[in-house]
Amino acid sequence: MGTHERIVVVGASLAGLRAAVTLREEGFAGALALVGAEPHRPYNRPPLSKSVLDGDDDVSLPGADAIDADWLGGRSAVRLDGAARTVALDDGTELPYDGLVIATGARPRRLPEEQMALTGVHVLRTLDDALELRKALADVRGRVVVMGGGFVGGEVASSVRAAGHEVAIVDAAEPMVRVLGRTVGTWLAEHHRANGVELVTNTRVAGLVGEQGRVTGVRLDGSRTLDADLVVVGTGVVPNTEWLEGSGVHLDDGVVTDERLFARGHTDIVAAGDVARWPHALFGDEPVRIEHWSNANEQGAAAARNLLRGPSGAVPFGQVPALGTRVHGTRIQYAGLPHLADASTVVTGAPEDGKFAVAFTREGVLVGAATVNFPKELTRLRKAIEAAESL
Ligand SMILES: Cc1cc2nc3c(=O)[nH]c(=O)nc-3n(C[C@H](O)[C@H](O)[C@H](O)COP(=O)(O)OP(=O)(O)OC[C@H]3O[C@@H](n4cnc5c(N)ncnc54)[C@H](O)[C@@H]3O)c2cc1C
Repeated sequence: MGTHERIVVVGASLAGLRAAVTLREEGFAGALALVGAEPHRPYNRPPLSKSVLDGDDDVSLPGADAIDADWLGGRSAVRLDGAARTVALDDGTELPYDGLVIATGARPRRLPEEQMALTGVHVLRTLDDALELRKALADVRGRVVVMGGGFVGGEVASSVRAAGHEVAIVDAAEPMVRVLGRTVGTWLAEHHRANGVELVTNTRVAGLVGEQGRVTGVRLDGSRTLDADLVVVGTGVVPNTEWLEGSGVHLDDGVVTDERLFARGHTDIVAAGDVARWPHALFGDEPVRIEHWSNANEQGAAAARNLLRGPSGAVPFGQVPALGTRVHGTRIQYAGLPHLADASTVVTGAPEDGKFAVAFTREGVLVGAATVNFPKELTRLRKAIEAAESL
């Protein structure tokens, strides 16, 4: 174990919380600060696009109320000085550290600010975003347009449709095909349509149209404009790394770390969660950044343990990524990284029955799995991916 006296965790969501809790569990007894830009204590994001939109406010994360750390909420880290080992906050505070956990996650991509400023235009990342969206949905009279048919966009469309609203998804490609492969992606598109969602695929949004400060439409590439009473921009996220610029931490679509989650070239800084990009032993040399709950949960804990152990005692992080979603009542899950595959095949069930599993291989070795209404198969295939089994 190392001999740390002052550890700072920046980012107080899932990965940061797990890091802080694990540091104490592993016996770290020194000063611990948890810095979070949001005013709320750590909470759970997955319900934001699901139960919260339906009226349930429970976003609790176990352990969040009993963190044994200095809670610095509503404050942002604005600068890291890696040589002096200090983190500067936006209120002028300088926090010295001998161990640092970077867990600043990601934020939604935005349209140009004059379009975001139109009433009726929303993103969904934080609890405040979700409560605002829920309030706006209660007054919606016309069509809701969801830009981007990814996990969050699909879930929002599903909730909004269940509430009886007219919904369109506009996607620059075909929803989820890159992530889930063509078979599941095609099935999902049909599933959206069968549930009354208008799906506009392979179409970019050229801009929003507004009247008197309120959004009225979404202008598509080509000449068409979709009337819209409310727009949800769900076109992916960008990692929160601006505060690290010039710090000496290697940034490239996130904080690039080694396989043990140490920021490349540093022995006193680790990163975890949506912001971290690391080389995963199962998936080749190209570092990966995973935007999933279970990854942030496990990685926060693993990064904390590795920080305490120091580079010589630290172990590589190799959890197989996995994520699940519910769209119009159907459970869709995936594991591994299907997009790395050079071949895929339906291994159990059949798309026409609405219950099936697809395995993805690269040079014959399993690298991913996607299932519709088949959790058992996902568990089996996830283990097979972990064992790098051949198909
Ligand atoms: C609506 C929604 C639904 C989701 N549903 C699922 C799901 O069903 N399944 C699943 O696997 N995943 C889901 N996810 C993804 C999952 O929630 C994320 O992977 C997880 O929250 C990542 O945790 P994190 O701690 O790495 O980062 P984040 O949760 O992004 O938290 C980072 C925190 O750091 C703070 N921060 C940023 N910059 C600074 C700074 N400079 N100083 C201080 N604080 C800073 C941010 O304000 C934020 O609170 C969903 C995400 C969203 C938004």
